[in-house]
Amino acid sequence: MPSRISRRSLLLSAAAAGVSAGPLATVARAATRTPKVLVIGLDGCLLSRIKDADAPNLDALMAAGLTAPSSIYADPLAPTLSGPGWSTVITGVWSDKHNVKDNTFSGNKFTQYPDFLTRIETAEPALATYAVSSWAPLTDTVFSSKVDTRVSTPSAEYDTGTTSRAVARLTTGDPDAVFVQLDNIDHAGHSYGAASQQYLDAIHTADTQVGSMVAAVRSRATYGSEDWLIMITADHGHTDAGGHGGSSAPERQTFLIATGPTLAAGSTRCDVKMPDVAASALAHLGIALDPAWDLDGRPVQQPLPDDFDTLRGQLRTRTDETGIGAGVQGFTHTPPAGWSVDNSAMGTGGITEWRGWSFTTDEFWTAAQRDQQRESNVRARNVFAVADGDEWSDKSLTGGFDSTLISPAYQVTGGRAATLTYTTYYRHESPQKGEVLVSYDGGTPVAVKTYTADVPSRTETVTLQVPSGATTARIRFRYTGGNNWYWVIDGVRLTQP
Ligand SMILES: [Zn+2]
Repeated sequence: MPSRISRRSLLLSAAAAGVSAGPLATVARAATRTPKVLVIGLDGCLLSRIKDADAPNLDALMAAGLTAPSSIYADPLAPTLSGPGWSTVITGVWSDKHNVKDNTFSGNKFTQYPDFLTRIETAEPALATYAVSSWAPLTDTVFSSKVDTRVSTPSAEYDTGTTSRAVARLTTGDPDAVFVQLDNIDHAGHSYGAASQQYLDAIHTADTQVGSMVAAVRSRATYGSEDWLIMITADHGHTDAGGHGGSSAPERQTFLIATGPTLAAGSTRCDVKMPDVAASALAHLGIALDPAWDLDGRPVQQPLPDDFDTLRGQLRTRTDETGIGAGVQGFTHTPPAGWSVDNSAMGTGGITEWRGWSFTTDEFWTAAQRDQQRESNVRARNVFAVADGDEWSDKSLTGGFDSTLISPAYQVTGGRAATLTYTTYYRHESPQKGEVLVSYDGGTPVAVKTYTADVPSRTETVTLQVPSGATTARIRFRYTGGNNWYWVIDGVRLTQP
């Protein structure tokens, strides 16, 4: 192939992936600098209230990097408490793996799913790791003794002491990875509520403390030869009246603010989840993420959007679901390019939003009806597909729910195995059924997976034996049932190694 054409196609594919020449050039330059990570956790902090508060340092970080509103689980996966929340941020896996369900940490699986500083120490023992927290269980229990330095600030010193210790270490030490937890925003939330002026004042104080840590980083004598990834995050949100632990949207709110060399200034992301903090820190330090670690996190520096995510700008507000906020976007029945939905066997009527497969978000779907375990759909990201016979049946209808989501025709090479992966979450009630079928070159679809019992949120991997001579494969996801439960599909990919 003439080199001119191959170069051009490379540029085209880079453009298609949304990668410009600027960030690529930055990556190449950054490779010669020493990577370092600072994670600051703001307990119980709401992103929406940062925006209301006098918080110039956090505002500057948002302007310089990415801002990602996110959400966590609720019971029965885990309550929206600090134990499960920080364990998820720090280990890079959800509560169904690290097994922290409350603030006692009993039954935790930190040996199997250790904190990210311990992962760093195991992979690169020469790197210097440091953790300091106002809430002692993090440095006493979540971070292991493999971390070089763990400090639980004496309670009399609280966030002031936590900040001064972190600033001192960043100024006079040479840490490679630092974790800091500030607690007072959560304290103000419990005492006065997230709607209060005191909560905003606590954000202002924490903002000043964040500013002093960022200034300490930038004042380092070696700063010019260093490459810092700075991440600000939270473990859970707060209600307006104060408190958390439940399943309301404000309690499930978290966020990531991150600045680093590959993160676009002023960008907003909808695909970030809390386990990504640990994965991003490891990736930034050049530590390969071993699939055997079974991480749920994905480095924010390496976004992996799927076809459904292209629908975000087309999501509509509610039609029949009056319990969902009028401004919340939303849902659509229009599939992404190359995909289709076959509703020819669907009944009529029912709740418009959920008639056949819909494309929606966690914010919109969980608001349809709380506390029916939709909050446990933690491994779907951004826009996902859902078939929800339960919500569809909340308005008069005739017939049953029978809808098939059909993928594009993926190119395959016959006579070789292919790997189908997708994220799923399936809540069952008889006679409901979920079927995954494959059709080669337009032939009769054949079932390769059937769901007739609950499946927690997880990534499925299905090996397909592609018949010799076949050149395309289409995947079908068919939900049949009625006033039963739901099925989520996301991140569908077909690959042939
Ligand atoms: Zn709290």
